[in-house]
Amino acid sequence: MGEEEKLEQQEEKIVMGGKADQIVNCQRCGKEIKVQDGHSFETEDGKEVYVCNDCIAQINQALEEETKNPNIFGALLLGLIAGIVCGLVWYFVVTMSNTEYAILTILMGWFIGSAVCKGAGNKKGMRLQIIAALLTAITLVLSELFIGLNFIASDPEVNMTISQLFLGSIFTGDIFNQLWEVIKNAGPIGLLIWGFGLFWAYSIPRPTKI
Ligand SMILES: [Zn+2]
Repeated sequence: MGEEEKLEQQEEKIVMGGKADQIVNCQRCGKEIKVQDGHSFETEDGKEVYVCNDCIAQINQALEEETKNPNIFGALLLGLIAGIVCGLVWYFVVTMSNTEYAILTILMGWFIGSAVCKGAGNKKGMRLQIIAALLTAITLVLSELFIGLNFIASDPEVNMTISQLFLGSIFTGDIFNQLWEVIKNAGPIGLLIWGFGLFWAYSIPRPTKI
């Protein structure tokens, strides 16, 4: 793709410049290689560095390992625990301060994303990215629901506790309407703040690129 095209262009440039036989050191292991036998990369400050074939093979293998056979059950389990912890923190902070903090959803996304990677056996990959984002979304929506129920239960005319209200809404099937209300009530700013968390959760298990 774009990266390959860039590499091809760079290689063309090398041949045209007559550098192909020049001896350089592999950036990773230090071995001396001819420019034409190495892979060239451009560093952020525009310098050209070379990596030998052996190192490229090792890097590719490590990257493959990183996404291979993730423990999905472990990812879900640890992600769920992280979600419950984050949900409680979110519930108490929002109930007490009446404010939704973007920094908190970012931390939440980071925490749940990291837990998912860890639970998967220190793995990354698309499936884990989706799991992390979904768990973060569920955590946010559910804790917002409880914040809403807390508000309802605080009305002295409503003679029910939060858990009674919650169980009631599950038994009557009203839970889905309530969850939908929570999403609608979040408003554009609220959804944006949630979005930061989702984006962060989705980013943490992203496979490493070279
Ligand atoms: Zn090397």
